[in-house]
Amino acid sequence: MKKETTARQSLTDLIDDILETASPGHEEEDSLLRLLASVDELRRESFAFMPTMTIGTTRLHRQGPTSDPFETLEKWVDLPHLFEILDRPEDFDPWVRHHHPTVRLMLAKSPHCPPECLAILAQEPWEEIRLAVLANPQITQKIRNYFIKNDPLEWLREAAADPKTPLSGRCALDGGKIKRPDRFLTCSIACSYQQANQRLDSGLYSSTSGPFGEFTWEVAASRSASGGIPGTGPNWRRVHISPVYGWLPDQVTSARFALSDKHGTSYDAAIELLQKLVTQKNCSYEEFSASL
Ligand SMILES: [Zn+2]
Repeated sequence: MKKETTARQSLTDLIDDILETASPGHEEEDSLLRLLASVDELRRESFAFMPTMTIGTTRLHRQGPTSDPFETLEKWVDLPHLFEILDRPEDFDPWVRHHHPTVRLMLAKSPHCPPECLAILAQEPWEEIRLAVLANPQITQKIRNYFIKNDPLEWLREAAADPKTPLSGRCALDGGKIKRPDRFLTCSIACSYQQANQRLDSGLYSSTSGPFGEFTWEVAASRSASGGIPGTGPNWRRVHISPVYGWLPDQVTSARFALSDKHGTSYDAAIELLQKLVTQKNCSYEEFSASL
């Protein structure tokens, strides 16, 4: 009998395989470094290679803590140039499902992001990314219709229905005007505080799971300026976001403990394994749990 070649390898086998063949290098980072090196080469070769335009402004560091939500880390600063030179929609695969939401936001802001990717980014749980999709010149009517029917935020549904709505410098949560776009992503401290609480409730932020390195942010922990002094910003609290695309931080922590119990997997190896399961097999937390 012909062997079923398309049979999906059971997750348990796959986990064993990944653990056995785990290499010290990080595949995704390696491919990122290779791609960025090719950008450098292009720059050297071509004097016509101009800096790319991105939608929106680059924020400066705000006062106080340093782990800003959606802060662009040094290793990502050249990504807009990379997006400019990628040709086919499938070339964007590593970025549209990148584990870090900042990278996905950078892609959503790129005027070179193909509509196929915008359609995926339109389903993000992060409203900042969805707002960037809506503001992207590559957006199609089909994606607008998706927003009109499905977006959880009323103001984004309305903005999608009226393409003339100005979207630059707007707070993703409620559409208010951002007064300090160089420092804050929301229109007010109250809005930042509300957003942080909503995300803690939905599990998008966790105050107990982690820390997950660069997947730790500092967000508003009070409704008003600290010490009541206007302009000083709120008090801050550390929250952890998921280091695994599509999973919640508490799910990652519970999977990490399960791997440690069952296979003695170290912290870093467990995160790397979960990232691979999602990248290579599109594995959900539910499927992972069922495989244990
Ligand atoms: Zn707001």
